[in-house]
Amino acid sequence: GGKFFSMMIRSAIPGGRLTSAQLLAQLDLCDQVGNGTLRITTRQGLQLHGVLKENLKQVIRGINESQLTTLAACGDVKRNVMCSPAPYKTDPVYDQMQRLADELTAALNPKTTAYYEIWLTDSETGEKALAGSGGPGANGSGGYDVEPIYGQTYLPRKFKIGVSLPGDNSCDVYAQDLGFLAICEGGQIVGYNVLVGGSFGVTPSADKTFAAIGQEMCYVPASQAVDIAIAVVKVQRDFGNRSDRKVARMKYLIHNWGLDRFTSKVEEYFGAPLEAPRDAPVTGYNDCMGWHEQGDGRWFYGLNVENGRIKDEGDFRLKSALREVCQTLAPPLRLTPHQSAIFCDIQPQDRDKLESILRSHGVPLSDQFSTVRRWSMACPALPLCGLAVTESERVMPGIMDQLEPKIAALGLQDEVFTTRMTGCPNGCARPYNADIGLVGKTKGKFTIFLGGHTLGHRLNWIYKDLVPEDQVVDELTAVLRVFASERSPGETLGDFCHRVGKDELIAMCEAEPVG
Ligand code: SF4
Repeated sequence: GGKFFSMMIRSAIPGGRLTSAQLLAQLDLCDQVGNGTLRITTRQGLQLHGVLKENLKQVIRGINESQLTTLAACGDVKRNVMCSPAPYKTDPVYDQMQRLADELTAALNPKTTAYYEIWLTDSETGEKALAGSGGPGANGSGGYDVEPIYGQTYLPRKFKIGVSLPGDNSCDVYAQDLGFLAICEGGQIVGYNVLVGGSFGVTPSADKTFAAIGQEMCYVPASQAVDIAIAVVKVQRDFGNRSDRKVARMKYLIHNWGLDRFTSKVEEYFGAPLEAPRDAPVTGYNDCMGWHEQGDGRWFYGLNVENGRIKDEGDFRLKSALREVCQTLAPPLRLTPHQSAIFCDIQPQDRDKLESILRSHGVPLSDQFSTVRRWSMACPALPLCGLAVTESERVMPGIMDQLEPKIAALGLQDEVFTTRMTGCPNGCARPYNADIGLVGKTKGKFTIFLGGHTLGHRLNWIYKDLVPEDQVVDELTAVLRVFASERSPGETLGDFCHRVGKDELIAMCEAEPVG
C-alpha cells in the first residue's frame, strides 16, 4: 500500500468559530466530493478526506464561497490559530482572546495572490470566487509580489500559534511554536505571557529531533501581541534551519541558541525592551462539554465528537443530526481543541429540541460519555494519513470500550486524565504532554508515554516501547491499578507517574499483575 490517490483538504478556522451555514457547506462537500465524513481537527479546523485531484478546485472554491479558507491550513506558514473556545458572554476575556486570534490570523496569513489565482479563478470564465476569512481579498490587501512578512521563501517549516487563559489552557499553549497566555486584571486582559518553542513533531529515524513544550519568553501588553508575533516569526524566518527540514521548527533554533540569545534577537526585531514574564501558572482546562449558561440568558452545549469524526454509520447518525441542528436552530458553532463541537446561543426553550435531535439520531449526549473517553483523542492515521505506521482513530474507540469497565472496577470512573493516540511519532493529536500518550512506532506496535498532565505544561516520558496493539489495554490497566492503590490523596494520574518514575512504576506493576 502506501499509495494515496486522494487528498485531504483542511480549512483554517481561527478559534474554531463557524456558522451553521459554513458547517452545512462542508457537510455538503464531504458528501459530494469527499468520503462522506468530515473531521474536526485537533487545531479546531475541519478536514475533508478522500478528495480526488480532479475535484480539488471545486472543493477549495466551495470552502471559500462559504467564507472559510484553506489558506494557511497547510504549508510552511502559520497554521490555524487556536484559542480557548468557551463562548461566555459575561466574561469579556474570552471575546478578547478570540479577537487576538483573528488579528494574528490577519497579520500572519500569506498575502500571496498565487493561491487566489490557482484555486479561486474559474478556468473557463476567469471569474474569481469570493475569498474566505483572512484571504487576500478579505483583508483588503489586494495582493503583493513579495510576501511582506514571509519574504520570497516563506518559513523554514510550519508554525503553530495558540491563545489560552491560565484558568483554561484548552488550546494547549505549551504545544505551540508561539503561545499567548492571557494576563487578566479587573476582568480584562491587560497583556500576555509569550511562550516560544513548543512543538510535538518528531522524526522517528532522526535522534536529533525531539518533542518540546513552550518556554515563557516575555510579557507584552495586549496592544503589542501582534507585533511580538511578527517579530518572533521574522526571527524564525531569518534564522531557522533551512537546510534540514527535520530540524527546521523553531524549537531547534531555541535549543541551539538558548532562550536568552533567542529572546535578545526577538527584542532586536521587536525594537523595544521586553518585560519578564508575569507569574501566571496554568491552573485549569475547560473542555466545555455539556450545558452551560453563557451569561446573556442563553446557553451553550458542548457535544463530544469521538475523535472528531462526523459521520453517519448504522444507528449513529451524527452527520444527519448536525444537518438538522444547523438547518433548524442554526446556532453559531465553535470547534474545540479536543475535536468536539459547541452549539452557542441556544435559547432556554430550545434546549430540549437540541437534545431530542441528537437523541433521535443515535448520538450519545455528553453526559453519556465516560470521563476517560471524554478526555481522549486520536489522530486519523490509517487509512487516511500517508505517514501512519499504526492504527489510531479506528482502534481508539475499542480501547476505550475495554478500559471503561476496568476503570469503573477500580473506582476511577470520575478521574480526569488525558489519553491521546497517534499513528506515528509526528504527534498530531498532541500525545507528548498527555497523562497517557500512545504513539505508533512500527506496524502494530505502540510506545506508551506516561507522566504528562491534563494541563499540558509538562512532557511525558517513555514508559514502555514497542507494545503490541493488543497489549496496550493490559499495560494501562496495570498502571491504573497501581495508581488506584498507591496514589496520594487528590494526586492525578500524570502526577503520580511523574513522582514515582519509570523504573519504580514498572516494578510496582510487576508486583501487582493484572488478574
Ligand atoms: Fe498522520 Fe502521524 Fe499525524 Fe497521525 S500523528 S495524523 S499518523 S502524521
